[in-house]
Amino acid sequence: MTSLSIQNPATGETIAELPADDAASVQRKAEAARAAQPGWAATPLAERQACIARFREAVVRELPRLAEVLTRETGKPIRMSRNELNGLLGRLDFFVGMVEPVTAVETVYDQDGMMERIEHLPLGVVANISAWNYPWFVGCNVIVPALLTGNAVLYKPSEFATLTGLEIGRLLHEAGVPREVFVPLVGGGATGAALLEQQIDGLFFTGSHATGVRIAQALGARLVKLQLELGGKDPTYVCDDADAKAAAESLADGAMYNTGQSCCSVERIYVHEKIHDAFLAHFVAAVKGFRVGDPMREDTYIGAITRAPQLQVLDAQVADAKAKGALLHTGGHRLPGPGNWYAPTVFSRGDHTMALMREESFGPIIGIQKVAGDEEAVRLMNDTRYGLTAGVYTPHAARAERLLAQVRAGSVYWNCCDRVSPRLPWSGCGDSGLGLTLSSYGIETFTRPRAWHLRRP
Ligand code: NAD
Repeated sequence: MTSLSIQNPATGETIAELPADDAASVQRKAEAARAAQPGWAATPLAERQACIARFREAVVRELPRLAEVLTRETGKPIRMSRNELNGLLGRLDFFVGMVEPVTAVETVYDQDGMMERIEHLPLGVVANISAWNYPWFVGCNVIVPALLTGNAVLYKPSEFATLTGLEIGRLLHEAGVPREVFVPLVGGGATGAALLEQQIDGLFFTGSHATGVRIAQALGARLVKLQLELGGKDPTYVCDDADAKAAAESLADGAMYNTGQSCCSVERIYVHEKIHDAFLAHFVAAVKGFRVGDPMREDTYIGAITRAPQLQVLDAQVADAKAKGALLHTGGHRLPGPGNWYAPTVFSRGDHTMALMREESFGPIIGIQKVAGDEEAVRLMNDTRYGLTAGVYTPHAARAERLLAQVRAGSVYWNCCDRVSPRLPWSGCGDSGLGLTLSSYGIETFTRPRAWHLRRP
C-alpha cells in the first residue's frame, strides 16, 4: 500500500503520513458499498435524517478542533475555517428539511381509473471526488443529499484536505451511517482514477477544469451520470452610480477571502471610468489593510497558498500582466517561507490580452479594468470560457437586472459577491461545469425518477 504525506502549507511541515487506497482496496470498498446500498435505501427516511441531525450535533460540539484540522492542512485562516463549519449547519438543516418534500411520491394524474405517479429512487452507489478549498461545503453538498436520498457514497477528498475528509467520515459513522455506506478513500489522482474504474451510478466531481475533462473522458463510454463543478473567472462590473468605497470594500473581500482560493472568488473587476480612480484608491487601501500571516491567528485574513504549484501560476500571471502594461499597486511577489505564501496583489490597467483577466488565478491577485460604459462591461464579462458567477454594483435594481440578464453565468449577484445559498442552485455555464448542487434540484439530482402507469381494474 502506498502512503499519502500531508503537509501544513503555512509551515511546510509534514503533519501526517496516511496509508493510501490503491486499486485493490478501492475495488473492495466499492463492492462492499454496492452490497450495503439496498439496506440503506430501505432504512426509513426518518432514520437517515436522524443520522444527519446527529452529524450536525457532532460538528457543533467539535467545531473548534475541526476548524484547527482544516487550517493546519489547508492554511485557511482559522476564522474562515470556523465560518465554513458554521455555514455548513444551515446547509445541513436545509437538506434535512427539504428531502421529504423533494422525494415524496407525486401523483400527477388521476382520472377515469388511470393513475400516474413519479417515484424518486436513489441512483445507487455514487462517487464524489472533491476539492480542498472548502472541503466541508463542497463535500457535504454531495455527501449529505446523496445519503439522505438512500445512496451509498464513495468519497475521495482532495489529497490537500484528507484529514478533514477523514473527520467527515468519522462523524458520519459515529452518527449511525454504516461504514460500507459512507466510504472515505485516501489518496491523490491515482486513487481518484481507480474510483472511476468501479461500477458506479453517478460521479460528482468538484475541482479543476483539466481534471473534470479527464474524468468525463474516462467515463464517456460508460454513460455514468456525471456532474462537474469546475473553475471560474468571475467578473464584476461597478457602474458609474455605485458607491465607490462600499463597492471597493465588498469586492476586496470577495477577491481575497480564503486567500482568493474560492471557486466564486471575484477574479476580475470592470469599473466605469467615472468612478474608476476613486474605486481603485479604496480597493488598494482595503487590500493593504488585510493582515497576512499565521493562519492560526485570530486576526489573520490572508493565509497560505494551499498547493505549492499554484505559486507558479500566480508568478506567470503577474509577469505576463506586467509585460503587457498592467499597473501594479501592491504585492506582485511571493513572500518568504517556510510554506507557500503570496502577497495580496492588485493590478489596474488590465486588458483581455492578459492571462490575469482570462485564466483562473485561484490566489490573492486581481486585475481591474476601466470601461467606458455598460455595453463594454457586458461584452468583457462574457469574454470568457467560464460562467460560474457574475455581479453588478449599482443602486438601481432595474439597471442591475438589465445587465445581469445579458451575462452568461450560473449565479448572478446585485451589490454582493462570493456568496452561496443552500436555497439556490449552484451551477456553471461553459467550462465552469455540468449539473448542479444545492437547492431542491441539488437533492433531486441524487435520485432517478421512476414513472408509474397504474390502471385500476
Ligand atoms: P483538482 O482538479 O486538482 O483536484 C480535484 C480532485 O480530483 C482531487 O480530489 C484530486 O485528487 C482528483 N483527481 C486528480 N486527478 C484525477 C484523475 N486523473 N482521476 C480522478 N480524480 C483525480 O482541483 P483542486 O485543486 O482540488 O480544486 C481547485 C479547483 O476546483 C479550482 O479550479 C476551483 O475553481 C474548483 N472548484 C470549483 C467549485 C465549484 O463549485 N464550481 C468549488 C470548489 C472548487
